[in-house]
Amino acid sequence: MKSPGVIYVTACPVGCTTALTDTALQLREGLLRRCSSCGQLLSSASEARYSETMAQFDDSAFNVTIGGAQARRDAVARKRLTRIAALLGKIPRDIRLCDVGCSRGQFVAAAIAGGFSAEGVEPAPQIAQAARDAGLPVRTGLLEDQQYADASFDALTLFEVVEHLRSPLPLLAECRRVLKPGGILLISTGNAASWTAAAMGAHWDYFDMARDGGHVSFFNPRSMARLAANAGFSVERIDTARVKFHDRENTPRWRYAAGKLLAEALNLPARFAGRGHDMLAWLRKPAQ
Ligand SMILES: [Zn+2]
Repeated sequence: MKSPGVIYVTACPVGCTTALTDTALQLREGLLRRCSSCGQLLSSASEARYSETMAQFDDSAFNVTIGGAQARRDAVARKRLTRIAALLGKIPRDIRLCDVGCSRGQFVAAAIAGGFSAEGVEPAPQIAQAARDAGLPVRTGLLEDQQYADASFDALTLFEVVEHLRSPLPLLAECRRVLKPGGILLISTGNAASWTAAAMGAHWDYFDMARDGGHVSFFNPRSMARLAANAGFSVERIDTARVKFHDRENTPRWRYAAGKLLAEALNLPARFAGRGHDMLAWLRKPAQ
């Protein structure tokens, strides 16, 4: 299948100058390409396809979580907040945090509940409004639009943001500017070097733009470390977690069950090997 129109991502978003080469992974938008220097995988989606699939983020009903899913999300948020405080060596009350691309503000709410001084920035206007309607301090727009003073924040979080960007370096430069020296930047994204991605190939759901709008840039721990270095951050650690071999919807039940057992057995080794499909990069703005 050929991708009509201008290709959205034409160079390695990490900042490598080497050419992109085709992989054998055929997506609906065309072949995935790879940076031969850092291994970053890039979509061949056109600009039109990118814009079309990004539109889902401005539906005011997007990303509403309820019941058990919300409880799990809150537990994950608390764990991340605890580690942010530990890395900063501060108590929550003394930590000013901004969640960039905060969607409906669930992480902001969890941080406020945990005693942090927290706020959010969200480019999709309807979602940002929904967050404000829920009483959360969320601004509409890009971080770059907000004109925060230098060294405003102790911590910034970018959850599921960088995979949408053809050039994340300007955003990371702004993060560095508004962070205090020694401040923490936490980035979450998928891991294209995961066992899940290796097993599912082109069918990895993270590659599916119809499901995850605007996913065009797929990191691995090496390319993430290089992005951090190019943006002037030091790497505290890059963690990966979780393994999955099948989608429940498209797999016979016995096969799904067997795959799930194997995946669960591999959860721990995946963490040690850096092969889990959820990646968390803990970065720090150098003190000097
Ligand atoms: Zn690269």
